[in-house]
Amino acid sequence: MFEVKTLKDNVFLFQSSYWQLNSGCVRDKEGWAVIDPGFSPAEMERIRDFVGEKGENEKGYLIYTHSDFDHITGEPYFPQAKKVAQSNFELCSKDKQVAHIKEADEVHQLERPEFIFPSPDITFDEKLDLELKEETISLIAAPGHTRDSLFVILKNKGVMFSGDTLSNIEFPLIFFSGEKYLETLKMAECLIDRYDIRCVVPGHGSDAQGKKEILKRIKDDQQYLNDLMGQIEDFFYMGLATMEIKSVLREVRYRGDYIGAELMPVHEKNIELAINEVGDTL
Ligand SMILES: [Zn+2]
Repeated sequence: MFEVKTLKDNVFLFQSSYWQLNSGCVRDKEGWAVIDPGFSPAEMERIRDFVGEKGENEKGYLIYTHSDFDHITGEPYFPQAKKVAQSNFELCSKDKQVAHIKEADEVHQLERPEFIFPSPDITFDEKLDLELKEETISLIAAPGHTRDSLFVILKNKGVMFSGDTLSNIEFPLIFFSGEKYLETLKMAECLIDRYDIRCVVPGHGSDAQGKKEILKRIKDDQQYLNDLMGQIEDFFYMGLATMEIKSVLREVRYRGDYIGAELMPVHEKNIELAINEVGDTL
């Protein structure tokens, strides 16, 4: 059942039955913003009806936390909205994302209006504030998972939408840079403090409530990335061949557990990227 959860006054959360994708909504008297609405047409119609666009005179924003296929299908449902993304959104491999959507729609037998890759109306490099009447929505570049990842912070509410970072159901997936990912996690620690964030909603999985749980998620992800990245330089200097390094890094754990067979291919992609990234700096 696709239910709406009230996180705070004016702040709502929808969780899709596909990949536990989280869609956010902020609504006050003057306008609204939706974050990564998805994924099935029926679910997006539900979010659209909940938002209830009142026409051109109302402020409306559609925020993409990044350009991965599961986060970008909302465009046709919010025609009045200004589309907002980090500036690297435009650089992603659009054909690949379109192909992923097609494949997912076939597997799950979903029929959606013809998908056209979104073209943002507003982009930013480091930081952008969007003002509603009662809410300030701060967007902050948070690269690592992808080049164009961003955090959405509701300053007055102590809520952060973190895109595909800080999930409780997946270890960090490095599509862009492990080093940047670590910098972003460090930044997340500072932001939690600065804005007194008490609730973090990741792109997938359950929201983290309370600083203890939020900081634990940050620490777990830092640990995994440090274990993955931190030894590679030494291995190179010890003269290990790439194949040997890969085999050692397969043993890296996440939250104390070895990576299972199902997620091993994703972990191996992380290893590959990490070795290339560290190798480039030597
Ligand atoms: Zn995702």
